[in-house]
Amino acid sequence: MREEPENRIGIDVGGTRIRAARIGAGSQILSRLVEPVQPDRDGFCAQLLRLIDTLRNPRSQGVGIGIPGRVEGGTQRILSAGYLDIAGLDLPRLVAERAGLPVRVENDATMALIAEAALLGQDASGLILMVTIGTGIGGAAVLDGKPWHGGGIAGQFGHITVAADGPMCKCGRRGCVETLSSGTALGRLVTGEDLPAGTLAAELLARAEAGDPVASAILADWAEPMRRALETLVAVADPKLIVIGGGLGAEMAAALARLPAGQGWFGLPIAAARLGDDAGVIGAGLAAPAREDRARTA
Ligand SMILES: [Zn+2]
Repeated sequence: MREEPENRIGIDVGGTRIRAARIGAGSQILSRLVEPVQPDRDGFCAQLLRLIDTLRNPRSQGVGIGIPGRVEGGTQRILSAGYLDIAGLDLPRLVAERAGLPVRVENDATMALIAEAALLGQDASGLILMVTIGTGIGGAAVLDGKPWHGGGIAGQFGHITVAADGPMCKCGRRGCVETLSSGTALGRLVTGEDLPAGTLAAELLARAEAGDPVASAILADWAEPMRRALETLVAVADPKLIVIGGGLGAEMAAALARLPAGQGWFGLPIAAARLGDDAGVIGAGLAAPAREDRARTA
């Protein structure tokens, strides 16, 4: 019988769904499972362990877990995770004790960026940032191929202030780009123009291309604050590339491309993400430690 190749388990925890996959050495998905995520603590832990148990085989090395919220980079402590009641959970200990596998926990944007950066191969050296556009706005940084956390939670790019008198943000400040350029903000712009709630960004782009001024104005109002935030990122860190990802990443990249050329100093080295929904689970697999890594660092 042919020997199974070495593999790692990637888990991408979303606000509504949990994706899990066995990932091969070449980033390929060997097997996958997608389920509604259990939002309560005990249910989540049981679900996580069951998914790992279903996907693992004797050649599985470790587990990577992407969390939709703030994860402290050094300790891997979960500080917040949206609607999921999993803050403070020690996932590395839980999985090591119950499944015997080493674990790496990162926020979901970091995992997605690890996968996107891997596609760049040698071009992934230097500083690469990612901004994810979904219900909210997330961010991540990798420096020379490794997650960069600053003092612990660097990469909260949704909370770059772009409007001093803008809407209140959940972080306690006003006018964060998340309040103006997220999917939630787009929904508010759409209903503000009396378009049907649930009108998709892709639909707005098609209408704008066909010359509809209302759709064009909505997209400009949605993308302009994001451009200001991206210019701030360039002013601060001058990254080699900013990947625009998340569920609405392709649409935001297209909306940014429609804006009139900027007059300022800061050009935008942006590119739309290439892996779509699979980025998080592939990146989680790539970030998973190998069993011998644990022995070395223990
Ligand atoms: Zn904020």
